[in-house]
Amino acid sequence: MLETYQNYVNGKWVNASTSQTFQDINPADKDDVVGLFQASSREDVKHAAQAAAEEFSGWAALSGPQRGSFLYKAADALESRLEDVARSLSREEGKTLMEARGETARGVTILRYYAAEVMNPQGDVIPSVNAKSLVYTSRVPLGPVAVITPWNFPIAIPLWKIAPALAYGNTVVFKPASLAPLTGLNVVKALQDGGLPPGVLNMVTGSGASTGEELVKNPFIKGVSFTGSNEIGREIATWAVNKGAKFQLEMGGKNPVIVMPDCDMDQAVELTVSGAMRSAGQKCTATSRAIVLDDILEEFTERVVDRVKQLKLGPATDESAYLGPLVSQEQQQRVLTYIERGKGQGALLLAGGKALTGAPFDQGFYVEPTVFGNVNEDMIISQDEIFGPVLCITSAANLDHALKIANGVRYGLSASLFTRDLNAAMEFARRIDAGLVRINGETSGVEPQAPFGGMKASSSHSREQGQSAKEFYTEIKTVYIDPAGR
Ligand code: NDP
Repeated sequence: MLETYQNYVNGKWVNASTSQTFQDINPADKDDVVGLFQASSREDVKHAAQAAAEEFSGWAALSGPQRGSFLYKAADALESRLEDVARSLSREEGKTLMEARGETARGVTILRYYAAEVMNPQGDVIPSVNAKSLVYTSRVPLGPVAVITPWNFPIAIPLWKIAPALAYGNTVVFKPASLAPLTGLNVVKALQDGGLPPGVLNMVTGSGASTGEELVKNPFIKGVSFTGSNEIGREIATWAVNKGAKFQLEMGGKNPVIVMPDCDMDQAVELTVSGAMRSAGQKCTATSRAIVLDDILEEFTERVVDRVKQLKLGPATDESAYLGPLVSQEQQQRVLTYIERGKGQGALLLAGGKALTGAPFDQGFYVEPTVFGNVNEDMIISQDEIFGPVLCITSAANLDHALKIANGVRYGLSASLFTRDLNAAMEFARRIDAGLVRINGETSGVEPQAPFGGMKASSSHSREQGQSAKEFYTEIKTVYIDPAGR
């Protein structure tokens, strides 16, 4: 039976004020409706923000370790349901079960990391010019914050925002992506099972168009953390600046690998393909450009194309599939349009390039893993974030030339170099415009205890995860204490 899911406001599961719902569809089977979700409006956001505001002082007054204990329990709750949560993630988002399980396990780790993080010092003692004065800083929460997340990592991204927000004493209004609301709801359920007091975490589902502006502009909301497209991110930034709220944006990428002649070719091929094609290329850190030095261009290209032609597409229920469908028909169309534009501008289609037909592919939004050769750095497919299983191969004369091409885009999220040459690795790490730099690694994949974020148009120059999350979710109070009557 088709289930209707509710918003979570002030500790209660409630319907939206609109009395309307929207459908969540399985991208591998467009006839499979995963569930009905509340189509919320501004009014619902207002209620959620008010609940978060009313609970803020009580939550902030707890000690860090007390707040951490809720996160430990939420981690246990999520871990106990890992398989179910991963399966529903795959069903609504399309990624393979292996990836969905990995992401859910990562969510558990994120919760435990921030549960423990609050045991670390949260301020400094500063030497004063006066011998008897005590000067110290303490970190205080912002207040109620809004968390707006995309569909491509519907557990990891909400949790790497919500867990630190709560750990440092903020309360939260969370709006998950409309293409993956069930996973957002599972995140909330885990925290509810962790025993969070009512109002500390609230969730409203519904389109960004009807809820987004209120989420940012609501007077109770003191900070906004967003991951998604640059277009929406920029709009959120403008709203936040105008009202004086703190904001943090993680947005697109156009991530390159540079492949040097002395690389381990097997490694370079495998990690380039996996960076480009896993999750059907729908990662902000996905590899979308391979910049290959002339000497090995032919060999690398042939081997990548061979490997890509072996990749198996399929629904998440097929455990042997390497990649699944794109998340929606709109996303499928967008990727196919980019492929046509690439062909139109003279790039050489070497593999893939089409939507797959025949059963079971007609039921879903599949695009073949696609490789373009002869890609010029000025082509649209070399500049725009495609967000699909499309790899562009470009040649370069030397490392200097490769770096110029790699840096010649508006984004700067992640980048990797394949080499055995320490000097080349160090030069790459120094000169590449990327917030996440890998040597002999995949461009995607991050560890929750390390800072994550991009340069240039990829972010608002803030960092998430690890201890960097503290920078966003707290502000510094500097305290001077002097003895009375001196
Ligand atoms: P969006 O930026 O539209 O969506 C991200 C989140 O913002 C969703 O929760 C969305 O809600 C919400 N949102 C939408 N409109 C508003 C608004 N006016 N105010 C506030 N919040 C809003 O990304 P899409 O999901 O549409 O993806 C489009 C493209 O963005 C992708 O093709 C890709 O290029 C890029 N992207 C990048 C990601 C990354 O990790 N860097 C992740 C996802 C997308 P709703 O779901 O209801 O629309």
